[in-house]
Amino acid sequence: MMNQTILLNPGPVTLTERVRQAMQREDLCHREPEFAELALNIKARLAKIYPEAAKDYEAILLTGSGTCAVEAMLSTLVPQDGKALVVTNGVYGERMAKMVTAHGKPLEVVTSQWHEPMNLTEVENRITRDAAITHVIAVHHETTTGRLNDVAKLGQICKHQNVALLLDCVSSFGAEAIEFDACNLEACAATANKCLHGVPGISFVLVKRSVFDSRPSAAASVYLDLYPYYKEQQQGYSPFTPAVHVSYALHEALIELEELGGQIARYRHYHTLSQKIKQGLKQLGIETFLDEQDYSVVLTSFNLPANTTYEQLHQFLKKNGFVIYAGQGGFKRSIFRIANMGNIQSDDIERLLNCFHQLNQRS
Ligand SMILES: *Cc1c(COP(=O)(O)O)cnc(C)c1O
Repeated sequence: MMNQTILLNPGPVTLTERVRQAMQREDLCHREPEFAELALNIKARLAKIYPEAAKDYEAILLTGSGTCAVEAMLSTLVPQDGKALVVTNGVYGERMAKMVTAHGKPLEVVTSQWHEPMNLTEVENRITRDAAITHVIAVHHETTTGRLNDVAKLGQICKHQNVALLLDCVSSFGAEAIEFDACNLEACAATANKCLHGVPGISFVLVKRSVFDSRPSAAASVYLDLYPYYKEQQQGYSPFTPAVHVSYALHEALIELEELGGQIARYRHYHTLSQKIKQGLKQLGIETFLDEQDYSVVLTSFNLPANTTYEQLHQFLKKNGFVIYAGQGGFKRSIFRIANMGNIQSDDIERLLNCFHQLNQRS
């Protein structure tokens, strides 16, 4: 396709042609064995993106956006008589605290400002003080700012204190490293249309299989209860209508990921792109919002230059074929974000930098 707009927002992503074409395959009834085979194939591929997870974790497919998977994870796995400790430093951590509150489950929240790292000292203190805490809940890559949270350290605390960790990996799964055993990770939630380069409509939760045998579901919800999905998906079926054509696309995107070298290769590709973006903008005097070493390879946030508004910048880039992303909340007018997930190559980034250069010369 000529002159396709490049999406630099954190999902949905610019698709490759093969993933787009995959949606054109034959219509399928989800109660037929052809669909079951497709679903089982996707589940197997998702579970082995991280080799460490392949044996003990089950990928449970849901039809819904990333938030659907996150809410299903919290709804099903945080016990009504347990207690959650939610660690927040951005929109997505705060959203999970809202979910646990909405589910009427006991929780504590350790809040940091959006520009700050997670407060791990406070996390450790709270767990030590309060034996009722059963689950720690956090965001791996906080897309609000682009910070890659120190989940390895948080996980060490969880492992040491024998508390389960639940992670929102919606914007990191498939690109950033995830440690499963060392973090005492019980489950993580993710989506088809961020670092996996699929189409929006399917999300999933990787859950430690032993959970299903050791305790009942905690879900006070029908659609978001992972247990019936777990049971029916053993044979590839789903309790509700799954997004069939989106499944084709995800299947193709997973094969493509494997052919390109899997998560480690995707990490390296993103690293190259994000470095290029950071260095290019730095040369034009545009500074990162966080310290450079705090970022994921997936998304970078920048301070908006004094000579432009976000709207002006966004419109100029959009006219030139690039969609960037605004800041959220209090940072709406002071930062902008550039994600590099999806079908994006180095020459796209060179064209992007060229646009920034033009903008700089005009003002
Ligand atoms: C995008 C995102 C979500 C929400 O995903 P939706 O598909 O918009 O529901 C949740 N958490 C993080 C970290 C994200 O980046």
